[in-house]
Amino acid sequence: MTGREVEQVLLHAAEAEPRIRFYDHWIAVDLLLESKITGERGRPVRADRCWGAYVLAGTHGPVVPFIARATFLATGGCGKVYLYTSNPAIATGDGIAMAFRAGARVANLEFVQFHPTCLYHPDARSFLISEAVRGEGAVLRTLDGDRFMERYDPRAELAPRDIVARAIDAEMKQRGDKHVLLDLSPIKRERILERFPTIAATCARFGYDITAAPVPVVPAAHYMCGGVVVDLRGRTDLPGSTRRAK
Ligand SMILES: Cc1cc2nc3c(=O)[nH]c(=O)nc-3n(C[C@H](O)[C@H](O)[C@H](O)COP(=O)(O)OP(=O)(O)OC[C@H]3O[C@@H](n4cnc5c(N)ncnc54)[C@H](O)[C@@H]3O)c2cc1C
Repeated sequence: MTGREVEQVLLHAAEAEPRIRFYDHWIAVDLLLESKITGERGRPVRADRCWGAYVLAGTHGPVVPFIARATFLATGGCGKVYLYTSNPAIATGDGIAMAFRAGARVANLEFVQFHPTCLYHPDARSFLISEAVRGEGAVLRTLDGDRFMERYDPRAELAPRDIVARAIDAEMKQRGDKHVLLDLSPIKRERILERFPTIAATCARFGYDITAAPVPVVPAAHYMCGGVVVDLRGRTDLPGSTRRAK
């Protein structure tokens, strides 16, 4: 909900700027490279440069070139390469792949943060059960009721995200289970409803009354730490990723 507010404010500010044009649901498919335009027999005639992008115009539209002196990538992460992710469907890593294909360096792509508790349901693959729920006292259990976190870290459910996510993953693999359970019974019903109304309502939509029974959860790819290598001004290895300063 916080993120939605941030995004709405940013969108309104951008809409109020007459020099910005929106192309909703147009998808960039590749960068437009000088070598592809001027190269002879596939050979670039000079150091490569980015001159914009090829963009798919809507769902059925043609691919059209957008020519630009400066091209910015702001296409987010690649959570969708994982089965369980908190990310929206658009997190496909397109920008990173385009930059990589164009010859820009990418780095640290192996560092992906996993959120420990995503709701386990075939129709709700990206709904997070906030860590605040464990902060209030909820505990993790295996399907047969074993409270396992104390075996992994003295801080148990309040250990850092990576430790809890790895512990859940280890338990699932050892036992062959598809998920673990988040048990909110240590928290009073009124407190759950007052403190986590959105989580309670969303889980109820998928058939789980979190005030009455443990809810199934799995770790989910949440935050991508790597990406395209840039300098302090956001420039990639490829000329054309910002306008040259005057
Ligand atoms: C569930 C969840 C909770 C989070 N909570 C927090 C939090 O509490 N605090 C915090 O600081 N951060 C939080 N984050 C992280 C934060 O949301 C991200 O770090 C941030 O949104 C990344 O911004 P971005 O602009 O790089 O990418 P995004 O916000 O992902 O934006 C990428 C945009 O590029 C578009 N796009 C993708 N591919 C293409 C393409 N080929 N052509 C055209 N457009 C394309 C997408 O449609 C999207 O609009 C959370 C993330 C998630 C998923």
